[in-house]
Amino acid sequence: MADYCCDQMQEDLERRCAVHEDRSDCPDAFIGRASGGYGLLIHDGGSSMIAISFCPWCGTRLPERD
Ligand SMILES: [Zn+2]
Ligand SMILES: [Zn+2]
Repeated sequence: MADYCCDQMQEDLERRCAVHEDRSDCPDAFIGRASGGYGLLIHDGGSSMIAISFCPWCGTRLPERD
């Protein structure tokens, strides 16, 4: 079972876009998973992310992942 902090987080992470195969290409995708945790996807044509420690929706501290 995944440990989502809120519905918005779950919705975003589980959203599958029919147009964009890669979430980093989809403007509707906000959150990405990185090796060290979670990040905000930067849609600059690449796969950049800004690491975040708190959920942008509910403010819960995000679990560290390895
Ligand atoms: Zn949340
Ligand atoms: Zn899309």
